[in-house]
Amino acid sequence: MERTSRIEGFYKLSMSERLKIVKEFGDLTSEEAMAITGFGGLDPSIPDKMIENAVGSFALPLGIAVNFLINGKDYLVPMAIEEPSVVAAASNAAKMARDRGGFWTSSTDPVMIGQVQLTGVKDPSKVKHIILEKKKDLLELANKQDPMLVKLGGGARDVDVRIVHSQKGPMVIVHLLVDVRDAMGANAVNTMAEAIAPLIEKISGGKVYLRILSNLASHRLARARAVWPKESIGGDEVVDGVIEAYLFADADPYRCATHNKGIMNGIDAVIVATGNDTRAIESGAHSFAARSGQYKPLTIFEKTTEGDLVGTIEVPMAVGLVGGATKVHPTAKACIKLLGVKTASELGEVCAAVGLAQNFAALRALATVGIQQGHMRLHAKNIAASSGTPPELIEEVTRIMVAEKKIRMDRAQEITEELRKRNK
Ligand code: NAD
Repeated sequence: MERTSRIEGFYKLSMSERLKIVKEFGDLTSEEAMAITGFGGLDPSIPDKMIENAVGSFALPLGIAVNFLINGKDYLVPMAIEEPSVVAAASNAAKMARDRGGFWTSSTDPVMIGQVQLTGVKDPSKVKHIILEKKKDLLELANKQDPMLVKLGGGARDVDVRIVHSQKGPMVIVHLLVDVRDAMGANAVNTMAEAIAPLIEKISGGKVYLRILSNLASHRLARARAVWPKESIGGDEVVDGVIEAYLFADADPYRCATHNKGIMNGIDAVIVATGNDTRAIESGAHSFAARSGQYKPLTIFEKTTEGDLVGTIEVPMAVGLVGGATKVHPTAKACIKLLGVKTASELGEVCAAVGLAQNFAALRALATVGIQQGHMRLHAKNIAASSGTPPELIEEVTRIMVAEKKIRMDRAQEITEELRKRNK
């Protein structure tokens, strides 16, 4: 089989046919394929190792986004999400981007920030300088905490000192910048921040309170860009419509919240599937979006000189391939293998590309048919299933509700009754 993520009609295949393709693409063992198709059935010993008071596990649908070409490499992207249309929209947007080579990405070094809060300082500027003069000692002390990370080429890199004005007066906030390589980094950074706190107290005469990671991972950014040719997406009007939608989000925080939510639909689904921390990614994304003081879109859409649509995204991406659940959860492990990512930065760049694709798909739908029409079939299927329609009648009930444009529980029940009577 040619190793491409451009798979025509993947959505029309049965689940077992899809799994066969995925298994071959990712070179997965039968055990790994089982972990992907396990319908959330974790071995009981696993949840008990992951959290406190475990009683079970909670399953989400796992879908595969096809068609992703990123920096010339094909990816099948696992997405764990309960919301209909997300996987289809990402796959479709990725398909349309392939005509111009797909997605191109880059990222900064994987540098996270540990904060140490210093209070009770009368002369904050002087203290700031004293701390910066001791940078070498602070970095040495931090790096002693994690020889493994240092050996892998990571470790504490720099110290930054900010004076923050609180309601009670100035605080001196020390930032420890740590290259965390392929870890998400929270534990690694927290350990270092705790270790340097006594030295900071000693040299400053102040009192340290908090010593913890900042989720505003502004030094750890992933970027992606793609061009959607106007002829593939519906012409000049669609290009202009998407740009108008972007400009609306750029000017209005009420729209921008939903714009960025659409981006996170894609990113979070990959984050969950790979066992990463959705809360860290969410807080990083939204605080980064608001860093100028006004809440802004994470993506930008422009028109190229040829009249095509170009989209770009820049977003903090604190993801790991080691630590947390990534190495414990069998489905997450199999999903990471399927993705074939070799570094956490590569995973972050895939997430950025998926976020951009998702956002493009949503804006295109909004600028053309509206979101509801695209959502309709899956939404109708959900309504049919939740109104008690038996499995063998769901397809037919869905078809009728969509045709009638009446997607309601009471109508699903009526149609079910009619079909039952007719089939008797
Ligand atoms: P971790 O401590 O389990 O793993 C990181 C360690 O693994 C490193 O310190 C290093 O010693 C070692 N390591 C081995 N191979 C490595 C490689 N290739 N690259 C980098 N390190 C390597 O995990 P972590 O990533 O430090 O912390 C992540 C966890 O912390 C997540 O579960 C997250 O949910 C949680 N957490 C988050 C927050 C927050 O976001 N504010 C706060 C506390 C905890």
